[in-house]
Amino acid sequence: MKTRKPVTLEEFLQKFPDTKPKSNCLMGLACPKCGQRTSLRITSVVIATVFDNGTDRDESDCEWDSKSACRCNGAGTCGFEGTVADFTIQGLDIWDEEHPDRFADRRLTTTLPDENAS
Ligand SMILES: [Zn+2]
Repeated sequence: MKTRKPVTLEEFLQKFPDTKPKSNCLMGLACPKCGQRTSLRITSVVIATVFDNGTDRDESDCEWDSKSACRCNGAGTCGFEGTVADFTIQGLDIWDEEHPDRFADRRLTTTLPDENAS
């Protein structure tokens, strides 16, 4: 699989300014093509105890890494495919004290520097 140039946080926010934060399994992940972040199809390793009549499969116990295959699960025609690395937007969901209002009103915070400059 060929490697793609990763989408930067700035490029992603410019394309999808209304994106909503995620704080659990999809933290930092989003479709770089359509911006969808409700659900992704990720090829995962699931550890299960196998019995003759089935498994005790625990859905929460699955693992993947940046090289795992990933596909956009959004409605419509996107279907963007790649690896988890292709869906990783560095810094997308980092909450820290320096940016507490990051998702509260991004338009306001991004227009403030221009207003100060003029
Ligand atoms: Zn997509």
